Amino acid sequence: MINENFLNLKTSYLFGEVDRRTEAYQQRHPGASVIRLGVGDVTLPLAPAVIDAMHAAVDECSRAETFKGYGPEHGRAFLREAIAETDFPGLGIKASEVFVSEGSKTDMGNILDIFAPGLSAGIPDPVYPLYTDTCIIAGHNIKYLPMDASNDFSGDIPEERLDLVYLCFPNNPTGAVASRKKLTEWVEYALRNGSIILYDSAYESYIRDDSIPHSIYEIPGAEDCAIEFRSFSKTAGFTGIRSGYTVIPEGLALDAADGRKVRLADLWERRQNSKYNGNSYISQRAAAAALSPEGRRQTRAQVDSYLVTASGIRGILADAGLDPAGGVNAPYLWVRTPDGMGSWEFFDCLLEATGVVVTPGAGFGPGGEGRFRLSAFGERHASIEAAERIADFVKTL
Ligand SMILES: *Cc1c(COP(=O)(O)O)cnc(C)c1O
Repeated sequence: MINENFLNLKTSYLFGEVDRRTEAYQQRHPGASVIRLGVGDVTLPLAPAVIDAMHAAVDECSRAETFKGYGPEHGRAFLREAIAETDFPGLGIKASEVFVSEGSKTDMGNILDIFAPGLSAGIPDPVYPLYTDTCIIAGHNIKYLPMDASNDFSGDIPEERLDLVYLCFPNNPTGAVASRKKLTEWVEYALRNGSIILYDSAYESYIRDDSIPHSIYEIPGAEDCAIEFRSFSKTAGFTGIRSGYTVIPEGLALDAADGRKVRLADLWERRQNSKYNGNSYISQRAAAAALSPEGRRQTRAQVDSYLVTASGIRGILADAGLDPAGGVNAPYLWVRTPDGMGSWEFFDCLLEATGVVVTPGAGFGPGGEGRFRLSAFGERHASIEAAERIADFVKTL
């Protein structure tokens, strides 16, 4: 028997459909200048400190005396320690609570292995499609948590109890961040209800406002209700190199059917021991280099560069009266379509008139209808030109 839940997934995957329509446009208009403001992938090359560490790691593997084979499933000590010290300063996160992997997409999907089937799962709407898809595959009951302008794109605390609550700040696609007050309300909700928060902070390094928490563990009590997922993908350009990690505090536990308290870290450790053999040595050396003082300076400059592009796009759209959300502590802008156009309708009209590719909001959940996402990961001049084309196009409507 197959897992019938797969048949409940939506068939057309967002980015595949965007590519299909873009290619069709290019065939209809050969030679047209197409600019993609939809890319959800970084474009700057790896930082020099990262490259040097990778070369050195390859050289180590070239000699029998320093060759590296399998390492600990949860990551090598040098990286787990660097993460605990550098990414969670003063928060009391221990190296043993950090579980290294090849990225947070896999971890956020795999984490469902440690929970019972048929749970209630609160998922932000709109959001990155991963949580919805993996909850559908696992057969969980999804309750959308609307995140829109009415609640500062950070959600209203639900009335009912949910077993799992997914949160993603800074958010993909809205670019929203959550205030300390709002995150405190989410943590208090989870503690009151025995819910587990699955906190995706893949974009934490884009936060430049000192009042905004970078980690859920900045909120008192989060160590008793939250798992945090981080990635080197957007913070250090590792989308192709692969490295990320999951933090599960040692005190985080749920009751088993026989009344025993079971630590979630123990279950995850067991899950990874059974099904995973560790992130590559070269990627782990690269990740540690990204956390070195030099690596941090260099990767921060890259993030700054994306934020400058975001700010440029934001200014042009704001001047055109589009009132964009996001684009300040995040590489994404979340923009209302003009004249109440549907998001795919706007996508098609804009592409046809200007050659600019955006990401239709409806692809991120029902709450994304009537919005589109722009990313600041593209080359600066092309991105600014695309924003100007959008502004000009909107004036013609
Ligand atoms: C890019 C991204 C990730 C990171 O995925 P990796 O598998 O680590 O590359 C996680 N969450 C969100 C919301 C993302 O946009």
